Amino acid sequence: MDLSQELTYLKGVGPSRADILAKELQITCQEDLLYYFPYKYIDRSRIFKIAELTSGMPYVQVCGRIVSFQQVGEGRAKRLTAKLSDDTGSLELVWFKGIKYIQDRYKITETYLVFGKPAQYGNQLSIAHPDLDVANERNLKVLTGGLQAYYNTTEKMKSSYLNSRALQKIMVSLFQSINVPLPETLPDWLIGRLHLMPLNDSLRQVHFPTDAVALRDARYRLKLEELLFLQLQILQFAQQRSRKLRGYPFRVIGDNFNNFYHKCLPFTLTGAQKRVLKEIRANVAGEVQMNRLIQGDVGSGKTLVALMSMLMAVDNGYQACLMAPTEILANQHYDNIRRLLGDLPVEVALLTGSTKKKDRTPLHERLRSGQLNILIGTHALIEDEVQFHNLGLVVIDEQHRFGVVQRSRLWTKSTRAPHVLVMTATPIPRTLAMTLYGDLDVSVIDELPPGRKPIQTIHRFDNQLSDLYRFMHQSLQEGRQIYIVYPLIEESERSDYKNLLDGYEHIRSVFSEVEVGMVHGKMKAAEKDGQMQRFVRGETRILVATTVIEVGVDVPNASIIVIQNAERFGLSQLHQLRGRVGRGADQSYCVLLTSYKLSEDGRKRIDIMTSTNDGFEISEADLKMRGPGDIEGVQQSGMPFDLKIADLARDGQLIEYARRLAQEILQADPELEAPANALLKSGLKKRYGKKINWGVIS
Ligand code: ADP
Ligand code: MG
Repeated sequence: MDLSQELTYLKGVGPSRADILAKELQITCQEDLLYYFPYKYIDRSRIFKIAELTSGMPYVQVCGRIVSFQQVGEGRAKRLTAKLSDDTGSLELVWFKGIKYIQDRYKITETYLVFGKPAQYGNQLSIAHPDLDVANERNLKVLTGGLQAYYNTTEKMKSSYLNSRALQKIMVSLFQSINVPLPETLPDWLIGRLHLMPLNDSLRQVHFPTDAVALRDARYRLKLEELLFLQLQILQFAQQRSRKLRGYPFRVIGDNFNNFYHKCLPFTLTGAQKRVLKEIRANVAGEVQMNRLIQGDVGSGKTLVALMSMLMAVDNGYQACLMAPTEILANQHYDNIRRLLGDLPVEVALLTGSTKKKDRTPLHERLRSGQLNILIGTHALIEDEVQFHNLGLVVIDEQHRFGVVQRSRLWTKSTRAPHVLVMTATPIPRTLAMTLYGDLDVSVIDELPPGRKPIQTIHRFDNQLSDLYRFMHQSLQEGRQIYIVYPLIEESERSDYKNLLDGYEHIRSVFSEVEVGMVHGKMKAAEKDGQMQRFVRGETRILVATTVIEVGVDVPNASIIVIQNAERFGLSQLHQLRGRVGRGADQSYCVLLTSYKLSEDGRKRIDIMTSTNDGFEISEADLKMRGPGDIEGVQQSGMPFDLKIADLARDGQLIEYARRLAQEILQADPELEAPANALLKSGLKKRYGKKINWGVIS
C-alpha cells in the first residue's frame, strides 16, 4: 500500500492546507498524517441538561437552541453573547473574538451541540468560546460517540482555521480514502506473544477510539513498537561499535595505583566508589573501548574515581586527560590531584585558556614525548596543537556542558579510540540515560562519603530577612563561609546584572565584619579565578556569585548557601547549587529566597527542594515537570531521535521492557536475518536508516 501520497488530493486539505501542514508540522504525506497522534482525549458521550451545569465543572456538552444574539460592550470589552436554551433552562455563550464570523455562521432557532467549560459571572452561567456543531443526526453520532481526540496545532494553523477539529475531520477523510487494512509492521510471533492489537486497529483506535479500553490497548501497542525499534537501534549500534572499536587494554594494576591506594588516600573509599572502580577496571582490562557514564550526586566523590582510573592508564604506559567545563573547576581539579598524588612519580600539568604562551610550548613538547602522564584542563585540551604521545583515557567532567563536537574531537587525538569516562552530577533517570546515551554504559555512585550531615533546605520569603541575617552573622562568627547566589540566567540581562551588583553592595554593608567577594560570568577568567581562590583560602568569607559557582567547586568550610529569587532557577540547577555546601563535617543550610508571588511550578520546585536531597529523585521530578527535552544535558546534546507517542518521562517501565525485549531478540538473531524477524529488519531500516548519529555521544 502506498502511504507516501501527497495530501493535496485528500478531501478537506487542498494545496494551501497541505502547505501549512508541511511547514508547521512537517506532515507531507498520508503516512505522516496517520502517525500524527492526538495529545489528549475528552469524553463527549454524555449530554448534560443546562439545569445540571455548575461553574467549576470540567468541559461539558449540552444540546440547545440559540434564542438570541446580543453585542455588548465597547472597544476591548466588546463581545458577542448568545442565549442558549434547552427544556431545563438557559445559558449564555460568549465570544470576544471572531464576532462577525460567529454571527454569520450560527443561526437563531437552530439547535446545536455545544461543548465548553462553564463559568459563573454574577448569577449568569456562561461558556466562553464554545465548540458549536449543528445537532443533526450525523454530528450527534460522531460527536457523542465517546472519546474525542485532540490534536496539537500551532498558532499559524489556528489562524487558518486548521484547529484540532479541522484536523479531526481531515483524519476522517484520510481513513475513508485508505479503504483497505493497513499492513502490519510487527512480526506475527511478537503480536501473538504479547497479545498486541494489530497495527490497523491501533491506528484507527488511536484517532477514533471506540472506548477507553481499546484506546489503552492501541496506545500500548504503538508505544511498545516505537520503543522497541529505538532499543533495537541502540543495541545494534552498540554491538557494531564494540566489534569495530578496539580499545587499549589496561592489563595491569600497577605501582602508582597501589601506592596511591595504600599510602596517599586520606580516607577510605565508599562502597559505591569501590564498586564503580571495579566496573571501570573490568571494562578497560578488555579489548573493547570503554564508553562509560558515571552518575554521582554532588559531593559523592567522582574526582577520586577519575583520578584512580587515570592512574590505571598511567600504570599501563598510557597518558590520560581530564577535561572540565570551566577554568575554576580545572584549576581546582589540578590542585586537588596534585595534592592527593603527593610525591608519587606521576607528571601532571594544567592547560587552560589562561596558560601563557611561553609555558605552552614546553608543555606541548612534554605531552608529545610522553613525559607528561596526566593533563588537566578546559576546552583548551581539544585545540589542534595539543598532541598526545599515547592518549589512553579521556575523562570528561560535568559532561553536559560540553557540546557534541567538542567531545568527539578528543577522539581524533589518538589512533585508536581512547577509553572515555564521562562524569555528571546531573543524574538522569536510568531509563532516560540508557535511551539518550545510546550505548553508553552507566555506573552510579549512589553513596555519599561518611560523616556528612544532610543539608537542611529552608524556604523564606525575601521580606523576612532579619532572622536569616542574624543566623548568618552567627555562623560567620563561628568561622563559617557563605555563598549568596543571584540569578543571572542570561549573562546579557542588564537588570539581573544590576541586581547582582546592588546585592553585593547591600551584603557588604550588612556584613561589614567580614570580607565579601564576588564572581560572575562577565569577569575575565583571571579575575574570576582570583576571587575564587580568595574564597577557597578563606580570605573572603562571603561570596556573592552567579551560577558560575554551580559546578564542582569545593570549599568544605562553606556551610550556608542563600539563593536569591530561587523560583527563577530550574530544579537541577538548584540542586547543583545546593551541592556547594555540605562538603565538610558541619551542618549546612540551603536557604531559598522567593517573593510572595510564586507560580504553581515555582512553588512545586521549592517544595521538592525542601523535601529531598536525593539528586535522582529531583531529576525524576524535573523530568515529570518539564519533559525530557528540557532536562539539562538533554537540551544541550539534543535528542537524537524523535518519539511520536511514547514519553521518556512517563513510560519508564515500558522502556525497560522494550530494552529487554530488544536484547532477547538480538541475542537470538543479531543481524535480524531470520525470516520471522523480516519486519523488524525492514522497520528498523525505515525508521533509522541514516538518522541517528549515536557517535556524537561517545
Ligand atoms: P563530586 O562527585 O561532586 O565531584 P568531589 O569529587 O568533589 O565530588 O568530592 C567531594 C569531597 O568529598 C571532596 O572534598 C573529596 O575529597 C571528598 N571525598 C571523596 N571521596 C571521599 C571518601 N571516600 N571519604 C571521604 N571524603 C571523600
Ligand atoms: Mg566534581
